[in-house]
Amino acid sequence: SPRPELEALQHDDVAALLPRPTGESDKYQRGVVGVVAGSARYPGAAVLATAGALHGGAGAVRYVGPAADSVLARFPETLVSAGPPSKAGRVQAWVIGPGLGDDAAGLSDVLASDVPVLIDADGLRLADVEAVRGRTAPTVLTPHAGEAAALLGCDRARVEAERLASVRELAARYGATVLLKGSTTLVASPDGDGAPVRVNPTGTPWLATAGSGDVLSGLTGSLLAAGLRPVDAASVGAYVHGLAARHASRSAPVSAQDVAAAIRSAWHTITTT
Ligand code: AMP
Ligand code: MG
Repeated sequence: SPRPELEALQHDDVAALLPRPTGESDKYQRGVVGVVAGSARYPGAAVLATAGALHGGAGAVRYVGPAADSVLARFPETLVSAGPPSKAGRVQAWVIGPGLGDDAAGLSDVLASDVPVLIDADGLRLADVEAVRGRTAPTVLTPHAGEAAALLGCDRARVEAERLASVRELAARYGATVLLKGSTTLVASPDGDGAPVRVNPTGTPWLATAGSGDVLSGLTGSLLAAGLRPVDAASVGAYVHGLAARHASRSAPVSAQDVAAAIRSAWHTITTT
């Protein structure tokens, strides 16, 4: 029989993929996430991406950008650096884009690195397709429908109507793993060759709130830094993010901060049930 086009990630798959520190682990084994996000106008995006990465189990987060004061005020455990990303020290995955505005300064540095890079939000607008295609390490793109439409040069309505074709087309065009956000989140690999697109079963419409995507980018970045394959990092990130929102919400409104804080509760449920 033909392979199915879609495949839902199951609880047991996620449990097997979630990183678990061992007695030998140090923070580098856990994974260092570099965050290039935020701006004078949108400092909160940097805070929320950092929150996602720290709650997602990063061994450390290095923040590079103009919102260091805001990030440190909320998360004193963050390592901040003033220079370009390439001078920030050891990083095992970069997250670039949330709240960045039009500041493309760090982007070429990050794309030139030989570690996985996740590009979200404003970073998607600033990243050149050839620069992404030419990378030696994996890239993950996390657009919502509007961002996906801008990348494809089509209407948002077309992406909404053809989500499966859209996520596959973006993955092929950019040579990247693509996580298409929305009421159902889809994850496609670049080397599609008939592999099913993963669909996340855990979302909740309460996630449609400002900053929740920034939390997802940091969370998925922490899984990349821990060494998960890009398609696993993206689909496990979406699964944990959706479950965290359900735990935080329990059918009542939540903010993005609540979602980040509930990652631990979701994680606990996944690893113990
Ligand atoms: P962003 O668009 O970057 O702010 O990210 C929004 C987050 O909320 C993504 O993880 C979406 O998948 C999720 N989301 C938005 N709307 C819905 C919805 N109606 N149902 C489930 N998840 C949603
Ligand atoms: Mg967003």
